[in-house]
Amino acid sequence: MIHVVHHPAYVTEAPARSTYRWGKNGAIRDLLCARGDAVVWTEPELIPPGWLEAVHDPDYVAEVLEARVPPDKTRRIGFPITEQVAHRARAVPGGTWVAAMLALKHGFAANTAGGSHHALATTGAGYCVFNDLAVAAVRLVEQGVVGRVAIIDCDVHQGDGTAALTAGRADIMTYSIHAEKNFPARKARSTLDVGLPDGVDDAGYLAQLEATLAPFLDEHRPDIILYQAGVDPFVDDRLGRLALTQAGLIARETLIANLSLARGLPLASTVGGGYGDDVLAIAERHVTAILTLGEKLSRRNPATIEA
Ligand SMILES: [Zn+2]
Repeated sequence: MIHVVHHPAYVTEAPARSTYRWGKNGAIRDLLCARGDAVVWTEPELIPPGWLEAVHDPDYVAEVLEARVPPDKTRRIGFPITEQVAHRARAVPGGTWVAAMLALKHGFAANTAGGSHHALATTGAGYCVFNDLAVAAVRLVEQGVVGRVAIIDCDVHQGDGTAALTAGRADIMTYSIHAEKNFPARKARSTLDVGLPDGVDDAGYLAQLEATLAPFLDEHRPDIILYQAGVDPFVDDRLGRLALTQAGLIARETLIANLSLARGLPLASTVGGGYGDDVLAIAERHVTAILTLGEKLSRRNPATIEA
């Protein structure tokens, strides 16, 4: 059984003037529903504003929740913040947090949204409103649920927002492997950044990932991994620049799962980037990632934890 977190608000109509293609999250839900009893569903609570304010500027949180984000910020985000989009933005970080709680018990859980790694303290950016990864990580350590969190980001774009929002914390470590020439032009500093040249293929990518992530985990000894499993390193991705095949993406998830298993680490995954006209094909890549991770990491006998 694979634990999956989904909220109905993840699936929304595209707001007017959106440059982002909506509809991916509904397709991911449908593909996972087709798996029947293999998937166990959890619906997250909307996140309390205070949890968002632990990471984001309270004025920006209020702008989003009251659907009055100014135009300079909505341009940076890529779509306007309607009431519906604001509702979704509260559901997604709650989903990543509850996925982490489920992963601590079951070894693995996936959020069917999230991975909003470009969102910064005072504004969203790059199709990201609130940074669910940073929000969940900060909440987990401040609740005392875990001592140390590693945020592993394999989206083709650097996890600049996550790095900036967690900078200077000894209890949250960030790792980003990305196409160096891709967005964002100005990179933040993660605990470890692995910037790849354009066109890296499966073999080159997997070699770099293993050579850098294994020592990163051994050095920093996290209690849990939050994993941004963007599928935009795929060769035909519209915003990619790398050249991974579908087999390469599966090998990536297998490697991530094996590195986690070898260290006894629970892992909660989010989706992330994946761009192009064929929304169903992109959703299938996300679902394949969830199932590949879940089949390896889900424990048969759940651990007992005190939440
Ligand atoms: Zn991306």
